[in-house]
Order: sequence, then C-alpha cells, then structure tokens
Amino acid sequence: VTDWQGKHVTVAGLGVSGIPAAKVLHGLGAAVTVVNDGDDDRARAQAADLEALGITVRLGDGATLPEGTELVVTTPGWKPDKPLFAAARAAGLEIWGDVELAWRLRGPDAAPWLAVTGTNGKTTTVQMLASILTAAGLRTAAVGNIGVSLLDVVLGDEPYDVLAVELSSYQLHWAPSLRAHSAAVLNLAPDHLDWHGSMEAYAADKGRVYEGNRVACVYNVADKATEDLVREADVEEGCRAVGFTLGTPGPSQLGVVEGILVDRAFVENRQKNAQELAEVADVRPPAPHNIANALAAAALARAYGVPAAAVRDGLRAFTPDAHRIAHVADVDGVAYIDDSKATNTHAAQASLAAYESIVWIAGGLAKGATFDELVAGAAGRLRGVVLIGADRALIREALARHAPEVPVVDLDRTDTGAMLAAVREARTLARTGDTVLLAPACASMDMFVNYNRRGDAFAEAVRELSSTDG
Ligand code: ADP
Repeated sequence: VTDWQGKHVTVAGLGVSGIPAAKVLHGLGAAVTVVNDGDDDRARAQAADLEALGITVRLGDGATLPEGTELVVTTPGWKPDKPLFAAARAAGLEIWGDVELAWRLRGPDAAPWLAVTGTNGKTTTVQMLASILTAAGLRTAAVGNIGVSLLDVVLGDEPYDVLAVELSSYQLHWAPSLRAHSAAVLNLAPDHLDWHGSMEAYAADKGRVYEGNRVACVYNVADKATEDLVREADVEEGCRAVGFTLGTPGPSQLGVVEGILVDRAFVENRQKNAQELAEVADVRPPAPHNIANALAAAALARAYGVPAAAVRDGLRAFTPDAHRIAHVADVDGVAYIDDSKATNTHAAQASLAAYESIVWIAGGLAKGATFDELVAGAAGRLRGVVLIGADRALIREALARHAPEVPVVDLDRTDTGAMLAAVREARTLARTGDTVLLAPACASMDMFVNYNRRGDAFAEAVRELSSTDG
C-alpha cells in the first residue's frame, strides 16, 4: 500500500500498539476507525484523545467489522478466531499486526532487522545482541516485543545502522511479509497454545521469522524443532543455516570449547577453522540456558559482520534485567531467587535445573500447559513446594504423580497478600544451603498486574521476613 489517502483502515484494539498505529495511519491520511472490546473509563479517555484528532472510535464492540473497511491493523494479542477477523477474511481483506505495519511503512528501506524469537530467552538475547552491536560501534536499539514500539523507531528521526528486534509468536502471526536480515529461533516449547490453537500452529508462527532471511537462519542444535523450521523456510539464495550449541561446534556452528565461546560459522582468518569470541565467564548469569542465549546473540551479530572482540566487549557490558534469576537475599543460609519471568514450564525447567536443593514457589495461570514433564524432571531436587494462584491444582496433581514424597503446601489463595504467606511457608520448608526459587511456570495475571509486580512482591516478602524473626 502506498496511497493511504482516504483509505478505510480499521484498527483493532486501543492500547500500546493500537493507539500509535491509529495515530500514524491517521497522519498518513487514512480514514481510521478504532474498535475496542472494552468500554471502561480508561478506554473512554483514550477514545476522547483519538476523537479529538479526528479518528473514529467504537467502544464496547470489537467483534463487528465496520462497513467499508479496506484493511485491518490489529493489536498482536487479539486471537485469530475472533469474529472480526472472520469477517475481514470473508471480505478478502488483509490483516496486519503492529510489526507488519512497521515493516510495510519503513522496514525494507530502513535499518536491517536482526530478529529473535523463541519460547524463552528472547528479551535477554535481544539485549545481549544490542550490547554487542553497540560495542561494535553500530547505531542500534533493542526494539519490538521488548517494550519499544517498532513503529516509533522506524518512523522516528534517529538514524540506525541495524535493529535488534524481539518478536513474539503473536506478532509473527500477524506479520506475513516481514523479511529479516537474519533471525534466530532460540527454542520451541508449548506456550500460548490456547491462543494459537495447537503446537503446530505455534511453531509455524515462530518459523515465520526465517522467511526471506538474507544472511543467516540461526537455530538451536539441542532443539531439533528449530532446525526443522529452518529447513521449511523459504530464504534468499546464499542464506545459511547456523547452529548454536553448548557442546563442541560443528562446521557452520557456534559452541563452547573448554570454557571459550567459539565460532565456526563466520571465521575471519582463513588459516583457522574457528574463531574465539569470549569466555563463558563473560556471560552473566552463567547458567547454561543463558550461555545459549549469548551464543545466539553472537551468531546474529557475526552474521551482520561484527568482529570477535566486540562480541566479548558486548557480553561483558551486558547486565541482565530484573526478575530473571535475580538473587534477592540470603536469609539464614538460604538463597532467595526471583525468576518471576519464568512464566511457562520451559523457562521454569531452565531455572530449576540451575539449583540443587530447592523450595519451589509456583502457580498462576497455566495458559493450557501441562506440568508432568517439568515436575518429573525436577522431582529429585525439590525440598518442598509452595503453590499459589488460580491453576495450582494442575501442579499439585503432577506432583502427586511424579514426586509423591515431596512436601507440598497448597496455599489456596490468589490475593496479592498470598506472596508473603508463600515466602513464609517456603522459609519453614528450607534447610541451610537450599534455594527458595520463585519460578512460577505460569503467567501472573490471576494475582498481579504482570510478572514484574509478582517478582517485586516476592522480593518485598523476603525483605519483610528477613527483618523480622519469622
Ligand atoms: P522472553 O523474552 O522470551 O520471555 P527472557 O529473556 O525474558 O525471555 O527470559 C524469560 C525466562 O526464561 C527467564 O527468567 C528464564 O527463566 C528463562 N530462560 C531464559 N533463557 C532461556 C533459554 N534459552 N531456555 C530456557 N529458558 C530460558
């Protein structure tokens, strides 16, 4: 689409992506109507702001397609089975998400995109990547699902050489024409299945990130599903499949040899068959899953031509975000770790694998997940378990099946005060040398606004406990 003048565009959803999309499209001359399910005070205030600009807003009805719509631009989180989309498809209309809109408006002419998706580790990897690119002297930004609007960045005045882009499976679902310079799928485990409908549909949406890649499709050697997605993707001629592994790398792979991150895919010196990048000790925190994230970030940076020394400097300069295996305090010889960001079973598995003797705080919204594999794998390392949140029965039942001897405290609470009670119970269960680990394996929205608040509540509870005598 090049001529937006008078084009009837329906924007689905007010909110962090809908409002900027509506404004941009209106600015281009489109006739914009925003439809929104909710009709509360907040929505009314937002609607008033948009209406003042001349944008039409329809509150309380996100289901019907406005008469005369020529294009739908949707909030990525809206489920594909909504009646609005059925109507749009029946009318032969295209449906774009926020990423597709950014790509169509500026993507191909602006800075190339190095894209990262996967079930877990996206944000960390994109931040590491941006840190490496910055260390190489490139003008870059970590954008996308990480919380920085792609639309703002691609339409903004600031010039960039290259973008480090985090993409969610929802965004990829609604981004049919996106073509990245290079992309990585970090791993693939069941998550958001209630949204996508099936594991196959979820994988297919993640795999979209490889479509049309020009230089490299980066996959996880330990996760065959990611390699399968590379094989199925339609890429530009000359685009390479590049693997990353925690073991010794094969040709066209990055891996680890005797504590050194090594690149055998992009070798600078033709006399050698491997390039040393950094030491494992340069990666923080040095948990195995995080070294994998560092290798994926390095692979994308190397695909873009970044020298080895910048990979090392970028990794050293990187500091992890809050709520990702963050050490909160030691109380009576027990370490309290906040991994509130472990919002699914695959993430919780990674953090449970990083400790020996654990009192595990878990529960929340399961999003259609099952817990048998997670619980069976961790059973031998559990000192005890404290369960909170709406779907805790699913975890309790899995524990009864796979770890019947592990003591379980089922708090039967979903109020925010439950976190303090949970930490108190965990303290009672823990012995010297243990780790109390908040790795809920579930989303937080049954009890908290988001995982940040959940992690904050945990940290506050730990501090409160350590300042009293229990
Ligand atoms: P995302 O943006 O994909 O949600 P984050 O980087 O925020 O990923 O990490 C989320 C959580 O996933 C972390 O707190 C950690 O528990 C777990 N995690 C991070 N990287 C990996 C990985 N490569 N494999 C498995 N789990 C991971």
